[in-house]
Amino acid sequence: MRKTIIAGNWKMYKTINEAIDLANGLKRELFKLDFAAVEVVLCPAFTALSEVAEVLNETDIQLGAQDVYYQDGGAFTGEVSPLMLKDAGCKFVIIGHSERRQFFGETNETVNKKIKASLKHGLTPIICVGENLQERESDNTFKVIQEHIKGSLVDISAEEMLKTVIAYEPVWAIGTGKTATPEQAQEVHKYIRDLLSKMYGKETADEIRIQYGGSVKPENIAELMGKPDVDGALVGGASLKADTFSQIVTKASEVIK
Ligand code: PEP
Repeated sequence: MRKTIIAGNWKMYKTINEAIDLANGLKRELFKLDFAAVEVVLCPAFTALSEVAEVLNETDIQLGAQDVYYQDGGAFTGEVSPLMLKDAGCKFVIIGHSERRQFFGETNETVNKKIKASLKHGLTPIICVGENLQERESDNTFKVIQEHIKGSLVDISAEEMLKTVIAYEPVWAIGTGKTATPEQAQEVHKYIRDLLSKMYGKETADEIRIQYGGSVKPENIAELMGKPDVDGALVGGASLKADTFSQIVTKASEVIK
C-alpha cells in the first residue's frame, strides 16, 4: 500500500511572515485530517524553513526544501547543504524541478549527485521528471522520461529507491492551467513504474510513490488520484492559499484505491 503524498511547492513566493501565516492557516484547515491516509509536505523558500518548521512542530505536516547542493559544506557561495536542510527541520527535498532544469542548468548528473547526498543525510528526495511540449508533440515523452529516470538514478540501489518519491511533472502543465488528463498522467506513471520494475524489480517498483504535478487544483485532484499509479501530487500555484491546498489534501485523502 502506497501512502498518498501531497506536497506544496511554494516556489519563490512568501516572505517569512507570509509563510508563517500560510502554515498556520493550513494547520487550522487540516486539523481534522486523517494523517494516516495522507502525508502532507510543505516546501517553502529557504529563508522561511526554520520559521515554518516551528509552526509545524508537533503536527503531522512535514517540511521540505525546493533544492539542495550535493556537498556537505565548503566554499560554495549561495548553496545550501543537506545538513543545513536537516538542521532547519526538513525531511524532504525537491530535486530536479523543471524550473531548475530550465533556468539554472540542472542536469540528470547534478540531480543524481543531489539525490545521493540527500539520501546520505536521511532526507527524502522528491525527484522530478517530465517532458516539455515540444518533446510531447514530437512523440518523445517516453524517451525523455527514460533519460530523466535512468540518468538521475545512476548507482542508486533498490533499498535507497524505497526512500525516494518520484514526481511526474509534464513541463507544459506547470503553472499553465493546462492539466494532463488523468489518462495521460496514468499512461506516464505506468511507464515510470514499469521502468522502475525493470531496474529494481516489481516488488520495489510497487512501493515507490509517484506524484503527478502540473496545475493540480481542487477540481481535478480526485480524478487524477483515481488512477491506479497516481500516488499523490506536487502542487505549485494552488498550494499558495490555505483553502485551496487544504481542499486538495482533503479530496486526495478521500480517494480510496
Ligand atoms: C510545481 O511547481 O511543481 C507545479 C506543478 O506548479 P503548478 O501546480 O502551479 O502547475
